[in-house]
Amino acid sequence: MTDTIPHWLSKQADLSPSHPAIELDDGTIVTFSELKESSQRFARKLTHLGVEKGSHVGILSTNQIPMLIAIHALSYLGAVGVLLNTRLTNEELNYQLKDANVSFLLTSVLLKEQASMLDVEITQSFFDIEALPEKETPLETEINLEAVFTIIYTSGTTGFPKGVVHTYGNHWWSAVGSALNLGLQKHDKWLIPLPIFHVSGLSTSIKSVIYGMPIYLLEKFDTKTVHNALMEKQITIVSVVTMMVQRLLDELSKASYPKELRCLLLGGGPAPKALLERAKEKNVPVFQSYGMTETASQIVTLSPMDALEKLGSAGKPLFPARLKIENQADAQVGEIFVKGPMVTTGYYNNKSANEKSIQEGWLATGDLGYLDEEGYLYVVDRRNDLIISGGENIYPSEIEGVLSGMKQIKEAGVTGRKDETWGQVPVAFIVKGMEVSMEEIKAYLQTRLAKYKQPKEFYFVKELPRNAANKLVRNRLIQELNK
Ligand code: ATP
Ligand code: MG
Repeated sequence: MTDTIPHWLSKQADLSPSHPAIELDDGTIVTFSELKESSQRFARKLTHLGVEKGSHVGILSTNQIPMLIAIHALSYLGAVGVLLNTRLTNEELNYQLKDANVSFLLTSVLLKEQASMLDVEITQSFFDIEALPEKETPLETEINLEAVFTIIYTSGTTGFPKGVVHTYGNHWWSAVGSALNLGLQKHDKWLIPLPIFHVSGLSTSIKSVIYGMPIYLLEKFDTKTVHNALMEKQITIVSVVTMMVQRLLDELSKASYPKELRCLLLGGGPAPKALLERAKEKNVPVFQSYGMTETASQIVTLSPMDALEKLGSAGKPLFPARLKIENQADAQVGEIFVKGPMVTTGYYNNKSANEKSIQEGWLATGDLGYLDEEGYLYVVDRRNDLIISGGENIYPSEIEGVLSGMKQIKEAGVTGRKDETWGQVPVAFIVKGMEVSMEEIKAYLQTRLAKYKQPKEFYFVKELPRNAANKLVRNRLIQELNK
């Protein structure tokens, strides 16, 4: 027997028809009943275009209501959404479109011109689709949890992006696991400043439908807009990455957020301890979390009860998930493995990655970490970025964290360079925020890092190499020097 549940959007439209599903900054509100109606209408128009059960439909858009309508419409047809990052080049997009067998591409109006240069037979803007007639077609009334709903490519920080397949069950269990951890409150409203084409934004818009909770949708992160929304719009939860917390704390000055704001869910990358301490001083409820595209959103979260005591930890696995550390890198640190119904069943069209990463239901994350005596996870770094110097393990993110704690430094990237004596030595790339000399930096590190961890070379650069997800790509640091 396959596991089916009622179609989640139809169900929520039945339970809370006039409750807001989406709120925008300009005051626009879409209720669950309106969202369902629009999505079903959109599905019938897509049928006119030839989209059917199993079709792979690319979506290239920044955050906006028609994008969400299109995604829900696909679920009414049993079609698969391939969510594309708008910051990719056409070449990168073509790779993903081909790799994921995309035959239709839907875009925002603004991106239509760019999209029509891509290698897909049929490209239409959301607006074009609205103009099509509806074609009568049976719409899904149930959701089969084992069926595929979306494909999202990983950020490509350690290599070529891989297409992560998400079933409805992955999204369902991600939403349930998150609710069991963060709790659900009657007046919850979740702000999304992160793109929906990343799993964090997408998963929150699915949580919205499953919980009956409005999302406050922003097209992009802008410090003032987010700050004002947090101050005035009764937001209770917001998903953030490190850079956003930094900017919001700068903006906050002496004031504090309204007490309704109960969680800034921080994910996507390492969080420097100095930042978490600053947030704690300002009573800003930052919850560290750990997850990846493959886990359909966060899979480990520091629960509110432990947030203060376990600063720097990503917490414990969500209720339906498990975690283990294997393949030790040293006595304490090893590779993080995760398992649970929110974890992908595999990468699309990528046998070698599947064989490498998925072992008896466990996902080898490629990340290094350790558990403390009470089972709290500390994420250390990516296995590929580990520097081994004279037999000692050095984790670049530890050094980056210390460097970025120096107020004159805006950001730092650390990587290993070959060395005849030591095998490898750490070297640092620094973007200055204020004037600072190499001697001052060295003096700052003297008391904060063991000698073998102190970078042997420092390069001042204008910016660090980042990918389309804005993540530091360490293996490009040295390459960039030679440009
Ligand atoms: P690719 O897999 O293509 O190299 P990526 O791993 O950056 O790209 P994502 O799925 O966007 O793609 O990012 C997930 C990764 O982000 C995790 O595997 C981990 O390395 C990092 N990450 C997430 N949360 C944390 C955290 N709390 N601390 C440290 N790193 C984190
Ligand atoms: Mg990854």
